Amino acid sequence: MNGPAMARVVADRGLCTGHAVCVAMADDVFDVDDHGIVVLLREVVGEADGQRVAAAVRGCPRTALRLEEAEPGAAQPAE
Ligand code: SF4
Repeated sequence: MNGPAMARVVADRGLCTGHAVCVAMADDVFDVDDHGIVVLLREVVGEADGQRVAAAVRGCPRTALRLEEAEPGAAQPAE
């Protein structure tokens, strides 16, 4: 391993219809607002969270979530 791989989470709130599957799978990254629409608690996730967050992204029934490769120097994941 060459240090922590970083990924950026992107949410399309226009597609989200609030099933909250993502929240159930990774409630440290995803939440829903008062209207039930997804909000990101943090955008950049490290390797330790990668598989769990990727599963949440795949689990979204609206395909409203995606992961992008984070640029080097992106904000560190919140602890
Ligand atoms: S799983 Fe998808 S549709 Fe459901 S709250 Fe999360 S982003 Fe929105």
